[in-house]
Amino acid sequence: MTQAETNYPKQEPQKVTRNDLPLSCPRPGEALAGLHPRVYLPIEKTGSATCPYCGARYQLSD
Ligand SMILES: [Zn+2]
Repeated sequence: MTQAETNYPKQEPQKVTRNDLPLSCPRPGEALAGLHPRVYLPIEKTGSATCPYCGARYQLSD
């Protein structure tokens, strides 16, 4: 776990695996469901992604 990203609210990235792809936010069944329209995040390109709607952070863990 790196603490390099300091310009963002203290929020742990949510770990996702390739089994979770394609990654969408809110994730199915998540408490955030209904917070905003579902958006697909291209996490496989960079290994991490931030939802443009709610700022949720995701990190690919494998
Ligand atoms: Zn979101």
